[in-house]
Amino acid sequence: MVIEMETETADRTREVGRVLAKLLQPRDTVVLTGDLGAGKTTLVQGIGRGLGVKDHVASPTFTLVREYTGRLDVAHVDVYRLERIQDVVDLALEEVGGPERVLLIEWGDAVQDLLPEDRLRVRLTTDRADGETRRIVISAQGQSWVARWERLEGALEPFRAIHPDAPAGGAAR
Ligand code: ADP
Ligand code: MG
Repeated sequence: MVIEMETETADRTREVGRVLAKLLQPRDTVVLTGDLGAGKTTLVQGIGRGLGVKDHVASPTFTLVREYTGRLDVAHVDVYRLERIQDVVDLALEEVGGPERVLLIEWGDAVQDLLPEDRLRVRLTTDRADGETRRIVISAQGQSWVARWERLEGALEPFRAIHPDAPAGGAAR
């Protein structure tokens, strides 16, 4: 289960987040990976918008965790450096933001052993020379995403990356 996309602007990345947010359910975990400046926080801003969060969504770089309320409660965590890993361990993630909250965790791979099996992974990369285009690859593990996958694929269809050299009909699944 993989969906590959490309966005040409930060707003377009927010739009991906907004669409993705429609599929989110209580207690979901979304792990965001990608280098500094790849667009993880930008995408989280879109998810916040999609969940009807009214507050401005800013990077939790200095606070470790920021909490928001919209259609769902949201906890946004950023594990951006090694010393943060212990902070996140101490945080008892399952207790942050209430039992129903959605967890959006930047650099979440660094603490994956602390995360539920069932999760969505979003990887952002900047492999285009233009400095703007981002490649976004979404993958999932867990039963709850199997059930939602077709809907997610359908919703994200407008952002699909076009692969000129991919075999015909060989779109990534
Ligand atoms: P991260 O959280 O991964 O460190 P941010 O989201 O804070 O990254 O920063 C991404 C930066 O890149 C922002 O300044 C944003 O405006 C810019 N940007 C330019 N093009 C894009 C794009 N296509 N998608 C996301 N961000 C983009
Ligand atoms: Mg960030």
